[in-house]
Amino acid sequence: MKLEEVEMKLTESAFRVDRAVCPHCNLKMHKTIENKSLFEGALTFHIIKLKCEKCSREYMDLEQAQVYDLFLAVRKLKEKPIYDVAEKISQQIILNNRRSRHQSFGRE
Ligand SMILES: [Zn+2]
Repeated sequence: MKLEEVEMKLTESAFRVDRAVCPHCNLKMHKTIENKSLFEGALTFHIIKLKCEKCSREYMDLEQAQVYDLFLAVRKLKEKPIYDVAEKISQQIILNNRRSRHQSFGRE
């Protein structure tokens, strides 16, 4: 399923972004995670950004940009009368989230 794919990419890119260097300062950047909640906290998107301490620029890789796009799309759905549909999608994401978290801790 498509939503599961997003979760996988998020984990993969977490490794990749660790080694990123600011193209302006040529310094190693620090990873920051921005949590964005929807549906009274029932659904949280974890968006991994990179911040350069010298110039304060923030970067997102392509996969993270896609996660952010998904967040914006779901937030848009919430504002429309098809709230029920959005809720179902969010439940699916939460399930996938739990599954991938278990995998990353090697419990499954
Ligand atoms: Zn910089």
